[in-house]
This record gives sequence, C-alpha cells and structure tokens, in this order.
Amino acid sequence: MNLATPVENLKYARKNYLPQLKRLGIKTVKDLLWHFPIRYDDWTERGKVKDIRPNEKISLIGKVVSVENQRAFRRRIILTNASIEDETGQINAIWYNQPFLVHTIKPGKLISVSGKVKLDKYGVYLQNPAYEIMKHETLNMEQEKDFKHTAGLIPVYPETEGLTSRYLRFLIKPLLKLSYRVPEFLPQEIIKRQKLYDVKTALSEIHFPSSLDKADQARRRFAFDELFLLQLRALRERKKVQQQKSVLIKFNQEAVKNFVSSLPYDLTGAQKIALWEILKDLEKPWPMNRLLNGDVGSGKTVVAAAAALEVAKSGYQAAIMAPTEVLANQHFQTFSKALKDFEVKIGLITSSGVKGEGISGDIVIGTHSLIQENVSFKNLALVVVDEQHRFGVEQRATLLKKQNNFSAPHLLSMTATPIPRTLALTIYGDLDISVLNEMPKGRTPIETKLIPPEKRKEAHKFIREQVKEGRQVFVICPRIESPDQEKVNSKQSRLYRGSSTESGLTVNSRQLSLKDYLKYEIKAVKAEYEKLSKDIFKDLRVGMLHGKMKPKEKEEIMAKFKNKETDILVATSVIEVGVDVPNATIMMIEGAERFGLAQLHQFRGRVGRGIYKSHCLLFTESPLIGSTRRLEALLKTNDGFKLAEMDLKIRGPGEFTGTKQSGIPDLAMASLADMNLIKQARAEAKLILRNINKYPLILRKLDEFNRNIHFE
Ligand code: ADP
Ligand code: MG
Repeated sequence: MNLATPVENLKYARKNYLPQLKRLGIKTVKDLLWHFPIRYDDWTERGKVKDIRPNEKISLIGKVVSVENQRAFRRRIILTNASIEDETGQINAIWYNQPFLVHTIKPGKLISVSGKVKLDKYGVYLQNPAYEIMKHETLNMEQEKDFKHTAGLIPVYPETEGLTSRYLRFLIKPLLKLSYRVPEFLPQEIIKRQKLYDVKTALSEIHFPSSLDKADQARRRFAFDELFLLQLRALRERKKVQQQKSVLIKFNQEAVKNFVSSLPYDLTGAQKIALWEILKDLEKPWPMNRLLNGDVGSGKTVVAAAAALEVAKSGYQAAIMAPTEVLANQHFQTFSKALKDFEVKIGLITSSGVKGEGISGDIVIGTHSLIQENVSFKNLALVVVDEQHRFGVEQRATLLKKQNNFSAPHLLSMTATPIPRTLALTIYGDLDISVLNEMPKGRTPIETKLIPPEKRKEAHKFIREQVKEGRQVFVICPRIESPDQEKVNSKQSRLYRGSSTESGLTVNSRQLSLKDYLKYEIKAVKAEYEKLSKDIFKDLRVGMLHGKMKPKEKEEIMAKFKNKETDILVATSVIEVGVDVPNATIMMIEGAERFGLAQLHQFRGRVGRGIYKSHCLLFTESPLIGSTRRLEALLKTNDGFKLAEMDLKIRGPGEFTGTKQSGIPDLAMASLADMNLIKQARAEAKLILRNINKYPLILRKLDEFNRNIHFE
C-alpha cells in the first residue's frame, strides 16, 4: 500500500461509502491523509460518574451493566439505553435510531463514552455520546494509544450526507502509520528558517493533535505549503511573461497632458498614480501584465482611455474587451466623446454588428466578438479587459494572441471587485497591481437600510414617492437554489477559523449547472415581476431583464429604462456590471441575505451616480439566517476595500471575490489574514525559483498542485 492506493483497495473501507468519499474529493490514501479536520472535540480530561453535571460535557470509562432498545414515548424513534457504571456510580447513555448498537455495546464490556449530559423527563443521561468499546476488561497503555473517538483531541471532519467523522477517523487513523512515506518536498533550510513542522509530524498533529497549539502549528505548515506553491507558480508565470517581447511605447507627454487637461474634471491622486504606473510599463520591451483594481465608480475607464490613446498615437492598435454588449456600447460612446479632438479612429464590434471604424480603428472596443476567428488586428499592442473576472482564462489568452507581428501585446486587466492586499498577493501574485482606492470628488453617499418583513409596506410607499418625483428603481431578485444544494453547501463550505457558522445560501456552480441556475433565476425574476407589476406597483411602469434574453431584447429594455420609459426595472444579477443610469436612485434587493457581500456591494454601485440622493434597500426574509453581520457591514461603509477586509474576517474570502469557485486551496484561504506568512512564502519562493531545477521534489509537487487546482 502506498499514497496512490485507491480507497477502494483499503481492506477495511466499506464499498458502500465510496460515493460519499468521492463526493468529498477523496480517491486515494493521500486524499484521506489530506482531508483535514475543521475542528476538534476536546476530550483530554476524563471524569467519573460522580462528576456528572447536567448540560456539561464529560468523558468517562465504565462497565456496561445493561443495554436495551426502547420505543420512544409516542414518537417513531428507537432509543438504545445503556447503563454504565464506574466505582463512583451509574449513568445512562441514550442513542437514537441506532438499534444495531445492542450488538456492539454488550453488558460486561468496558466502554469509553464522551458527550453531553442531559436532564429531562428521562432523568440525567448522556445524550448520543461518542463511544468506544475496549478490547480488554481493564485499561492498558496500548488501549490508551488506540482511542479514536472519545479521548484526547478528537478530529471533526468536513462531512457529507451519510458519511460521519466517526467513519473518517476509522479510515484515517491507521493510515498515519504510512506518513513516513510522504516525501518531504520542502528543503530542510526552509523548514528550519520558517520553524515549520516536517510533513510527518504535521500530518499526525493535524489529525490527532497532542495539543491545540500543535494542531495550529500543523495547520500552519500546510498553509505554508499551499501559499508557497501558489507563489512559486505565480512567480514562474511572471518570469515567462517577462521573457516575451513586446513593442515599446514611448511616453508621449504631450498627448497624455492634453488628454488629461481636456477632461471636465481633475484626475484623482489614485488615478494619476495608476496611469503613471501603466505608462511606465508600456515603456518596457516585455509585456505589461497589470491589474487595475478599483471599486465601482472609481474611474477606471478614463485611465484605460489615456493608455489606449498613447498606444494609438504611437501608431499601434488597442483593443478594449467588455463582458456585455451594453457595456461595450457605453465604452464606445465614452471613448468617442472623450477622444473626439485627438484624431484617433474608434471602432465597435459586437454580435449585433460593427460601428465606427470597426476592426481598422486605432482603438477597437467590443465584446467576446473580438476574439472570433475572423477578427484580426493589424498591429495590436495593448489589450484592455474590463471586468476581467467575467472572462475565462482562455478568452483572455485568445485575445492576447490576436496580433500579426512577433511581439506580445501589453495587458491591462480591470476589475471592480476590491481585493484586499493579502488576497491579491495570493491569487494575483503574477500580476502587478494598481489600486484606485479613492473616489472622485462630489459623490453623494448612498444610504443603505435593512428592510425586515414588517417594514416592507413602508418601503414600498417610499419607493412610490420617489418614482412620483421622477426617480427610477432597480429591483434585484432573490438568488434561488435547489433544495439539495443548501445541504451540500452548508456542510462543505466550512472553514477552519470561525467562519463555519455563516456558510450556506450560495450557488456553487460546481454543483449546479449553469443551465439549471439560469432556469431557477428566470423563475425567480418572473415571479417577482408578476408580484410587482400586477400587485404592489400596478400603477407604475415595471420592466423585466434577465440573462436568458437575447442581446437585442436586453438592449431595448435597457434603452427604455435609460429613456425613463419604465420606472422600475426588475432584474437578475445581469445588471451587476457596468450599466450607468444616473436617474436611478433606488436599489431594492429582495432576499438580500442570499447574496454575497461583494455582489451586494456591486448592486449598490448601480445607484448614486447622479445628482440625487440614492438609497439601497436590503429586503430580508425572516428570520435572518446567520447573515446579519454581513449585511451590517454593508450598512457601515460604502468603501469596497473596507468591506472586502471585513468580509475576509467574517467568512473567508471566497464569497467576496467569487474566488470560491477558483479552487484556491482551503488552508491558503484560511490564512489570508496572515500577511506575514504570505510574505514569507513569497520570499522563500523567490529564492527557490533561481535554482528551481535543483529541487525535483518541489517541481513534482508543483505539477501535482497545478493539476489539482484550477484557477480562474
Ligand atoms: P468604473 O471604475 O466603475 O469603471 P467609470 O470609469 O465608469 O467607473 O467612472 C464612473 C464615472 O466617474 C464616470 O461618469 C466618469 O466620467 C466619472 N469620473 C471618472 N474619474 C473622475 C474624476 N477624477 N472626477 C470626477 N468624475 C470622474
Ligand atoms: Mg467600469
């Protein structure tokens, strides 16, 4: 038996558990060893029957005096009731619906039980305790070492329907003996410098720790591994990019100056710095690979426009790719207007056709249509990808390949998802990052309110009044998910450090196909539309927008809304990105607790763009399911970067940045609060990269890591 042995070949593993194991991603012995606990039950202290106190926990060893199955009074439950005694007294232990226990828990046997003490009409008893039957009549040293469930620090694992931690302990504990075969891929000098456990110690201490402190140390070791590999991969990518050649765009002071002074406003300090960083990158003979990270409305477009202008003035082409047709159109208009005095030709290419100069423009704006085969540029030197997370890696790569010379284009990715620094370093370690952390002057802050069910009527009245005054309203429908989805998620998305309680109601695309998701989403938006248009706001003009509509149809609906021909637009998350309707002042979100903080923040960013005061109304269903902290964070601040930091603390980073699906390993995720560890991992990765070929074990591990983890 070795690490690659499939679980089905383990003699003691029962075949009927294979599907469940698979669901947890466990296929081999190695996967089992790397299935880490989410927490530990602390049974380090053992008591006696005389120490028992109602509502407290206790672990004790005693002899089974009697055991019997009983039918619970008027309920369809079978109780197994065992009476256990030690030299200080007797106590009952009760298990539910496990009648087969009478075959293992037999009178005369020595039993170890650990659990909670209840006091009710049945008297004082241990409720559903963890148990182990001792092999011998008296406790000996060998026995002490073998405890899996009831003594010491007992691991509680991520579970799935039908597969308990008890069974996982049964599978994992005997394997720890194999851990000496796990190769140590980290060089000794790193282990020493970073004061890490070696992999064997770490494995044993993470599963069955001798103290909580040591469990933390073990976790730190594995978190370091993940961060180190992430950094190594990122740094290698970066090196690869820097070995490519690209055209060098000389800083054109005149053009940039003229452009900046032609704007009806001053650039913010952050915009100036970002633009300067980009222009510096363009002057290098290798491709820029930069992420422009700025909250909604922070003014990324104008920064991209300045860079595109400079490239165009040097005689090369720039391409701007946006995720939706609405957004591409908007950019075309913005660019055409802002650059009208600069003698550059601008084109637009979408699935609805070509506008302006099309592909022969100096600056070509478009949707996915830009990456079609028949679209070819003559000398593309800059690619800007707006809302980059909306595109796949492939799509971005395809656009980068679209040039006819030998050089690689410079790449500027833009995202409105504020990413905290630790996270940025971890997922985007291969990119340079410019941050727009400053909003343009003169924006009226948006007022955000929670609307519990009893305040709905009042909120509806307020919305009607606003519409009567000429304002417009966005309504976002609750996110829908299939029933079994909730179960899977709430069990799987628990993270180690305190974030477990807020897991839950999010759609994980890994489990729900996009098609099903759209189906549910459309059902929700139609229901909401019916409710609002035929009942609550039947006197107002209500429109509907969802992802399944044809682009043309969407365009028309958006145009109507922009032209104030509809008052209220009921939509799914399709309006999340881009659209700019300054007259819309209310963002009403149904079932707000079902969305992640990031998405809510993005929705809110759709209003507050004009001269009128704007409101974001978070409608909640009752009762609030563990999401209050998240929603309260939204009430506290409008600053996306602050929200991202808060969210990172509340529930781990996945929800905010949508990286949950990106496959960042759990421990790396959990340690994102630890800037120090991330920096150390990066520093060590830098050192190793210089001579990476001297470390075959690291190369192998990196390969395996890359195969297992698929990044956005
Ligand atoms: P985002 O970063 O979300 O893409 P945009 O680039 O669409 O934001 O900018 C939002 C709005 O802010 C636009 O109407 C733009 O003209 C305006 N804007 C951009 N920069 C400034 C600035 N420095 N001062 C005032 N308004 C600005
Ligand atoms: Mg934008």
